[in-house]
Amino acid sequence: MTNPSLLILAGDGIGPEVMAEVTKIIKWFGDKRDLPFDVSEDLVGGAAYDVHGVPLSDDTMAHAQEVDAVLLGAVGGPKYDDLDFSVKPERGLLRLRKEMDLYSNLRPAQCFDALADFSSLKKDIVAGLDIMIVRELTSGVYFGEPRGIFEEGNERVGINTQRYTESEIERVARSAFELARRRNNKVCSMEKANVMESGILWREVVQRVHDEEYPDVELSHMYADAGAMQLCRWPKQFDVIVTDNLFGDILSDTAAMLTGSLGMLPSASLGAPMANGRPKALYEPVHGSAPDIAGTGKANPCACILSFAMALRYSFDQGEEATRLEQAVEKVLADGVRTADLMQSGDGTPATTTEMGDAVIAALDASL
Ligand code: NAD
Repeated sequence: MTNPSLLILAGDGIGPEVMAEVTKIIKWFGDKRDLPFDVSEDLVGGAAYDVHGVPLSDDTMAHAQEVDAVLLGAVGGPKYDDLDFSVKPERGLLRLRKEMDLYSNLRPAQCFDALADFSSLKKDIVAGLDIMIVRELTSGVYFGEPRGIFEEGNERVGINTQRYTESEIERVARSAFELARRRNNKVCSMEKANVMESGILWREVVQRVHDEEYPDVELSHMYADAGAMQLCRWPKQFDVIVTDNLFGDILSDTAAMLTGSLGMLPSASLGAPMANGRPKALYEPVHGSAPDIAGTGKANPCACILSFAMALRYSFDQGEEATRLEQAVEKVLADGVRTADLMQSGDGTPATTTEMGDAVIAALDASL
C-alpha cells in the first residue's frame, strides 16, 4: 500500500518557520506511530512569485489536485504589497481554493484551559469551549453576479449579489451533518430567512437534507445576528454551526477571538470526495505571514501544528492520533511553555518557535 501524500506549501514570512515544526511532527508520526507520509514541498505566494513570476505555478496547482492533502503556512508580506492584483501572493491561495473547489471551510473555536485568561470573555464562559463553524466558501455574495460599481442616474451604485443554488447548500449542509456525527451530533444553521430569500432557501434545504439523510442529528435554525449575540453570550450552547460565506466570515472570526490568540487557530477547507474517498483538502493556520515577527523565532507554531491534527482527523481518518497531538499541545500549554504571543508582560522568558515544537514532540513522546 502506498503512503498517504502531503504537499507542503510553507509560503512566506513565518510560514516556513512554523512549518519546520510541523515537518518534525509529521516525521514523528512516521517514526513512532507507523504513520508514514509521502511529503513533497513546493512554493506558494511571494516565494513562488520570486521564482516563477506567479504566486502559484500550474505545476504546483496540478500537484495539489493529486495529493491527499495540502498543508499551507501563510502568504504575503510588505515586499509584495505593490504587485499587480493578479499576481499578489494571496491570489495563489485563492487559486488553490477555487480550483480544488473547497466549498466547506472548517474553523474550530477551541479554548484550551491554560489559555482561558486570554479570552475577552469571562473564564467560565470560554473554559472548555469546543465548537466548529462550517462556512460555505465558494459561493454567496462574494461571488454572485451581477457585481460591480455602476452609474445610475447622477450617482454611482455598488452592487453585490447573494446567490445560492440548492446543490451548493446541500453539499455544505452534508459536510456539517457528517462533522456533527463525529462530534456531539448537533448542528445550528444560521441565515437571515427573515429578510433574505436566499436565507429562506438555505433554511428549507438544510432542513430537507437533515430530514432525509441525517434525522439522527439535532438541528436548530437561528438568524445570524442572533447567532452572533449568542456566540458572545453563551458559546458553549453550540456544537457545529453551518452558515454561508459572508456570515461565516464574520461569525468564524468572532468565535475564534473568544479563544485568545491568532497563533492557536487552525483551519481546514474541504471539497468533494476524490476517487479514494478522501475529500479534497487544504489545511492552514488562520493567521497570516506576520512580517512583524518573521525571522525572530517568536512565531507560535501551534496553529499550524493543530492544522496538521485536523488533517489527521479529516483526511486520514486518524482521529485518535489527532487527539494525541491536540492533547500534546494542551499539555505543553498547561506545563507553562508559552511563545511570546501567549504571555503577558512580566511572565518570564518566552519559548522560541523551535522550543515550542520540541516541547510538543516531548509531550508526544510522553504520550506513548
Ligand atoms: P497576521 O495574521 O500575519 O498578523 C497579525 C498579528 O498577529 C501580528 O502582530 C503578528 O505578529 C501576530 N501573529 C500572527 N500569527 C502569529 C503566530 N503564529 N505567532 C505569533 N504571533 C502571530 O496578519 P496581518 O499582519 O494583517 O497580515 C500580514 C500579511 O499576511 C499580509 O501580507 C496579509 O495579506 C497576509 N495574510 C495572509 C493570510 C494567509 O496566508 N492565509 C491570512 C491573513 C493575512
